[in-house]
Amino acid sequence: CGVFGVWGAPDAAALAALGLHALQHRGQEAAGIVSHDRERFYQHKGLGLVGEVFGDQRTIATLPGDAAIAHNRYATTGATLLRNVQPLYADFEFGGLAVAHNGNLTNAATLRQALVRRGCLFQSTTDTEVFVHLIAISLYANVLDRLIDAVKQVKGAYSLIALTEDGMVGLRDPLGVRPLILGRMPGNGAWVFASETCALDIIGAEFVRDVEPGEIVVINAGGLRSIKPFAESGSRFCVFEYIYFARPDSVLEGHPVYQARKQIGIELARASAVDADVVVPVPDSGVPSAMGYAAESGIPFELGIIRNHYVGRTFIEPTDQIRNLGVRMKHSANRAVLEGQRVILVDDSIVRGTTSRKIVDMVRAAGAREVHMRISSPPTIHPCFYGIDTPEESKLLAATHSMEQMRELIGVDSLAFISFDGLYRALGYENRGAAQGHYCDACFTGDYPISLVDRDGALVA
Ligand code: 5GP
Ligand code: SF4
Ligand code: MG
Repeated sequence: CGVFGVWGAPDAAALAALGLHALQHRGQEAAGIVSHDRERFYQHKGLGLVGEVFGDQRTIATLPGDAAIAHNRYATTGATLLRNVQPLYADFEFGGLAVAHNGNLTNAATLRQALVRRGCLFQSTTDTEVFVHLIAISLYANVLDRLIDAVKQVKGAYSLIALTEDGMVGLRDPLGVRPLILGRMPGNGAWVFASETCALDIIGAEFVRDVEPGEIVVINAGGLRSIKPFAESGSRFCVFEYIYFARPDSVLEGHPVYQARKQIGIELARASAVDADVVVPVPDSGVPSAMGYAAESGIPFELGIIRNHYVGRTFIEPTDQIRNLGVRMKHSANRAVLEGQRVILVDDSIVRGTTSRKIVDMVRAAGAREVHMRISSPPTIHPCFYGIDTPEESKLLAATHSMEQMRELIGVDSLAFISFDGLYRALGYENRGAAQGHYCDACFTGDYPISLVDRDGALVA
């Protein structure tokens, strides 16, 4: 998901809609904005793209105020229903509160069961609503203490923005798995939270800093305050944000995403060179790595696959049938580049293998003589429980097939993935060992840095 918040700017909701637009790649199922005008809250949410939900100026006009938080939904828990669309808003004894959450809680079902037993009535099926009930039943007097109380009970990945009647709060889980950054508008000094820097750029805000893992940043009339309610536990930022999820013009934890992807392509070319005529990206996610691959190998970069930009990311579609349809809607082979050529295809990941197979078939049908596939992530062999919708093991091609079986199934002449050393060298470390403990890479290694309470039971660490 994508989250965005702005505090202290006229037309806050219009800025929030722009922020969501820049973060559209993080979730395309639904969008919502909650604003506050120092008197009351206003909200508008809908299923679909930001342009569909907020394209009409009259909608923005129903969201007055100088504070707003916003959310783009990419479902990992809960179905695509309007009542699951965020920000979630609730009235409490202390006043109203809205929350927008990116990530996925690993003990949401466990907590929910206990809360329901205590009489809490859930409105949605999202993990995020657990925060709302924990805040509601907390015995602390003020909203911030209640929020801290809630955050100490949840486990998992969360970058959260909350809006109260007198302030805005941005916080990250103790390991900072999902991104969250702080920015500021140069003219009026309004504060901004966003998932990625690309959302600051669109509204002309300046990057101030990343919200730190385990940090709670509180913004109100008194200015900005930082609270660290957890013991220092390091950082396990999601490495897949660099590989695929974030937008290439964003800067995450000081690293430009574009440079990281390009460098992965360079590492791939060094480790798995092959004689060929053209390097072709699977757009859009494979483009920067393919550029790196081409630069390092000296083989020309060509657009052998053309992407139709008017359809969403296929994997967000819910059923296999629709996903299969989506693929044909999204990519076409460019015969002028491919015919008679030995082609190196570069893509970011192989998940189920269905997209890759179709693309390879298409490239061969357009006359390619050889097809070599290079992947800018290690093989995906485990599901993600922290906010990326990776399917269960049985559906992950690399979890159930050997390298040779995968090569055969996808229908390529050769297949290679980036090595862990190569991946971490691309992120500026000497090797995998030097990056140990800095990133989450559980979908590639099975090394889950946060306990999977709902899956394994509360007693398993
Ligand atoms: P596949 O060949 O595994 O069907 O799809 C791989 C391609 O689709 C990659 O280009 C990747 O960007 C995208 N993709 C497909 N399904 C998923 C998914 O479930 N999760 C993620 N993260 N990416 C996917
Ligand atoms: Fe990111 Fe993979 Fe970790 Fe999920 S399991 S947070 S996708 S690195
Ligand atoms: Mg892709």
